[in-house]
Amino acid sequence: MTWLDEDLSAFRELARSFCEKELAPHQERWAQEKQVDRELWNKAGDVGLLCLSIPEEHGGGGGTFAHEAVLLQEQARVGDDAWGVAVHNGIVAHYINSYGTPEQKQRWLPKMASGELVSAIAMTEPGTGSDLQGIKTKAIRTGDSYVINGAKTFITNGAQAGLIIVAAKTNPEEKAAGVSLVVVETEGTEGFRRGRVLDKIGMKGQDTAELFFDNVTVPAENLLGGVEGQGFVQLMQQLPQERLVIAVSAVAAMDLAVQLTIQYTKERTAFGRPLFGFQNTKFTLADAATEVAVSKAFLDQCITRHLKGELDVTGAAMVKMWTTERLGKVADSCLQLFGGYGFMTEYPIAKAWTSARVQRIFGGTTEIMKEIIARTL
Ligand SMILES: Cc1cc2nc3c(=O)[nH]c(=O)nc-3n(C[C@H](O)[C@H](O)[C@H](O)COP(=O)(O)OP(=O)(O)OC[C@H]3O[C@@H](n4cnc5c(N)ncnc54)[C@H](O)[C@@H]3O)c2cc1C
Repeated sequence: MTWLDEDLSAFRELARSFCEKELAPHQERWAQEKQVDRELWNKAGDVGLLCLSIPEEHGGGGGTFAHEAVLLQEQARVGDDAWGVAVHNGIVAHYINSYGTPEQKQRWLPKMASGELVSAIAMTEPGTGSDLQGIKTKAIRTGDSYVINGAKTFITNGAQAGLIIVAAKTNPEEKAAGVSLVVVETEGTEGFRRGRVLDKIGMKGQDTAELFFDNVTVPAENLLGGVEGQGFVQLMQQLPQERLVIAVSAVAAMDLAVQLTIQYTKERTAFGRPLFGFQNTKFTLADAATEVAVSKAFLDQCITRHLKGELDVTGAAMVKMWTTERLGKVADSCLQLFGGYGFMTEYPIAKAWTSARVQRIFGGTTEIMKEIIARTL
C-alpha cells in the first residue's frame, strides 16, 4: 500500500495492542450497556490514540489521516463496533482544527486529546437527515450569547459527549446560508438534556442518542469559526473525510468477515468433508476475497489522494458507496456459509452482518452518494 510506511507499522503495533487489550474483551458487556466505558477515552488519551492527526501544539498526535486509518483498521480487526472514536478523532477534532479560532482550538482540542472531553456532532433531527438544509434547530444571537432550541437524534457518542458541535440555523429564514455550527459544552449546561440511548439492530455497544436543547445558552465565542452562516460550507468540506473514515472501517470489516468465514468453513464439516471442500463455498469465498481486494485498491487510492489534499466530494462519495455496498454483500454471503450459527448473536459473523447494514445509511445514504456522483456526470 502506497500510504503505509515504517512509522505507521510501529504505530500499528500500539493501536493493535490497545484494541486487543481494551476493546476486544468488553464487546458483550458494552452491547448490553449500549455504550463503552467512559474511562476508555481516558485510557486512549493516555497512550496517545486520540486526536492522532491534530497538531502537537494543540495536544494532538501530530500525525496524518494515515494514523487515523490504521487505528480504524485495528479497531475493525478485533471486531469492535462500539467505540465512537471515528467521530471523535476523524470528524469532530477536524472541524475544530480546520475552522476553530486560535482560542477555540486551545480551549477544546487538548481536552479532546486527553479524553477529558468526548465529542459528538449533531446534524440529524427527527424530521430531517439527508436534507440538512431543512434542519429546524435554531441558535439565535441574543446579546453576547446564542440561545439554542431544537432536538437531534441518532447522535453517535451522544450519551457520553461533553462537547457537541450542533448544526443549527442562526438565520431560520435562509436554507443552507442560514446554517452555523455552534459548540455546546454539556457540563452544567441548563436546558440541555440527553434522551434515551437508542436500541439498534447492530452496533449495539455504540452510544447513539437523542439530544434536546431547550433555551440552551452558550457564549457567542462558541460559534465555530466566529462567522455566522458558514455551517453548511463547513459540513460540505469535511464530509469527504467523514466518508473516507466510513470506507476505511467498511473495508476492514469486509476483510474480517472473509477471514472468519475461511476459518469456519475449513473447520466445520458436512457430508463427510469440510464446508470449504464444496465448490459453492470456494466460489463464494473467491468472489468475496476479490471484492475485498478491489475495494482495498480503490480505498488505498482514495487515502493517498486524501493525504495529498486531492480527494474531492465525488471521489469520497464513490468510495463510501462502493465499500459499504460491497461490505453488505460480502457480510451476507459469508453469513450464509455459517448456516444457523450465522444467525446466533454470539458468532462474530452475525455482528459483522448487523453492523454492516448501517454503513449504507449514515454519513450520507447510498442514494445521496449516487446523487452527488451523478451531478458530475
Ligand atoms: C447508528 C447511527 C449513527 C448515526 N450517527 C450520527 C451522528 O453522529 N450525527 C448525525 O448528525 N447523524 C447521525 N446519524 C444519522 C444519519 O446520518 C442519518 O440517518 C442519515 O443521513 C439518513 O437520514 P434519515 O435517517 O433522516 O433518512 P432520510 O433522509 O429520511 O432518508 C430516508 C430514505 O430516503 C432516501 N432519500 C432521501 N433523500 C433522497 C433523495 N434526494 N434521492 C433519493 N433518495 C433519497 C434515503 O436515501 C433513504 O433511503 C446516525 C445514524 C445511525 C443509524
